[in-house]
Amino acid sequence: MEVFTLPIFQKLNKLQNCQEEEIIEPLDEPEHQPTCEECKKVFTNNSKLQRHIREIHQNLKQFRCEQCGKEFKRSQHLKRHQLTHSGSRPFECESTKQI
Ligand SMILES: [Zn+2]
Ligand SMILES: [Zn+2]
Repeated sequence: MEVFTLPIFQKLNKLQNCQEEEIIEPLDEPEHQPTCEECKKVFTNNSKLQRHIREIHQNLKQFRCEQCGKEFKRSQHLKRHQLTHSGSRPFECESTKQI
């Protein structure tokens, strides 16, 4: 009888060892990447996003056009507005003057 039980025990033991070796650490699931709601920019971690929001969207809330004093909340809006002064936007009155 012992002759039969021994291999089974060894087999079990081997199985256990095998299982131990196969223990896989839980894979890092791709976390939801922090994304700026203002400009849809994606960041590698949340602290960078928070810093971005502070620096880009909160501290610099007021963008003033030096030419007409108009204020904008976002630099993109100011830049777009400033194009009207540079004359590259054909819908401005200035362009008709130039022609
Ligand atoms: Zn942003
Ligand atoms: Zn302006």
